[in-house]
Amino acid sequence: MTEKTCESVWNDCVNIIRDNVPPQSYKTWFDPIKPVKLDNKVLTIQVPSQFFYEWLEEHYVALLKKTLKHILGHGSRLEYSIIVENSTPNSKPYTINVPTNAASRAENPNVGVPLNISTSIRNPFIIPGLKKINIESNLNQNYTFDTFIEGECNRLARSAGYAVANKPGGTAFNPLMIFGGVGLGKTHLVHAIGNQIKMNNKNKVVLYAAAEKFINQFVESIKNNTNQDFTNFYQYVDVLIVDDVHQFTGKEKTQEIFFNIFNHLHQSGKQLILTSDRAPKDLKGMDERLLSRFKWGLTADLQVPDFETRLAILEQKMYADGITLGKDVVEYVAHNINTNVRELEGALISLLAQSSLNRKEVDLELAKQMLKNFVKNTSREISIEYIQKMVCEYFTIGVDLVKSKTRKREIVQARQISMYFAKDLTKASLKTIGMHFGGRDHSTVIHACQTVNDLMETDKKFKADVEELSKRIKINIL
Ligand code: ADP
Ligand code: MG
Repeated sequence: MTEKTCESVWNDCVNIIRDNVPPQSYKTWFDPIKPVKLDNKVLTIQVPSQFFYEWLEEHYVALLKKTLKHILGHGSRLEYSIIVENSTPNSKPYTINVPTNAASRAENPNVGVPLNISTSIRNPFIIPGLKKINIESNLNQNYTFDTFIEGECNRLARSAGYAVANKPGGTAFNPLMIFGGVGLGKTHLVHAIGNQIKMNNKNKVVLYAAAEKFINQFVESIKNNTNQDFTNFYQYVDVLIVDDVHQFTGKEKTQEIFFNIFNHLHQSGKQLILTSDRAPKDLKGMDERLLSRFKWGLTADLQVPDFETRLAILEQKMYADGITLGKDVVEYVAHNINTNVRELEGALISLLAQSSLNRKEVDLELAKQMLKNFVKNTSREISIEYIQKMVCEYFTIGVDLVKSKTRKREIVQARQISMYFAKDLTKASLKTIGMHFGGRDHSTVIHACQTVNDLMETDKKFKADVEELSKRIKINIL
């Protein structure tokens, strides 16, 4: 009989494992594993990260153990060798060895990992008498895991997010840092995590904050001499989600306060979830101490979805909005819009709007024609609020009025013009646009666009107003 080596043992194992897990999971979780040592009946396998280790332990440990017992017989044991990225620059990744089913990870999420967690930061803040009930999570209910299509482009980030959602503060992914370009689903994913946590545990205080809002609130609190309250507030939550932290770059004071909040929460076992438009290492103008903390947990990126995923996303959106389009049209869109998901949604909405306006089915010809000039300047975003503000300023009326039920002629007109620009300049759905105008439905928005188009053709003064407004709205964003 030939001597067993770690390679041969592992080879026998994967032959069994392969038959027991879906091919995609096999590829994701087992392909990257390398056998490194066989010592008596102890097999050591090398995994690429702490995350892998956690994931295997969570999902596949039973299968792994059973398989190993089958191959090596009684008394077999599995050990992991985990590659750990070192946070200091220039140092090589090193490995640590841990046995399977190591001490409860929930209590000690960083088991075995010699992370350099500073414990010397004093917390001088006393939690004020805030009632948990009073904290609004700011979560968008539509952004859930159910509506977040999985693909190669987001598998790691999604899995990690899912793990965090089910055990906030109890995994090694703290902070969880999601990064990726615009429109790739960062905001959606972090809302999904927040929603899932809320669903599992109503009592957890989850807070979603856009970095911009965080900055503004902080500046405001300094002005009003209430920065203590500001800090207390953020330190009070169980799960803090900060979206677009790249906006902290170059803002030293904000970084400093965030650093304190981060440390306080992390040390109390609270979960931090962050997003950024680039990898931590590319965040110029960010304090080193903060950067090193960003790297403590798991950093996962979102990439541009491949064709199949784009197709699945389109189908899901169509289903959600009750739209049907020919298969050829959907495939055409999925083929040609390959920048990001927001663009993909935008194309779909444009097609839909176009077909409602023209009362015409979207066939491949129309789709081709439309998509030709679809790729607009999308580098900066215009919000519906911004459009409302600009239009109302122009007509010197209160923004409240365009959202009200008023049927007064000049208000109706400002409302319709705002809707028209919202449709034209943002990627918001007709439904979303309607919501921004006091909960009107999508047909009202279509009607508004139609009216504005008609009036532009017949009324010179009206046309001049719209053109002037268009200039003013765009001037601030280009
Ligand atoms: P980011 O924050 O990265 O700029 P968003 O989270 O705002 O991107 O995503 C842009 C749009 O694309 C949102 O409407 C979101 O719902 C959608 N989206 C992104 N990724 C997915 C996905 N994997 N499945 C379904 N919808 C997605
Ligand atoms: Mg976003």
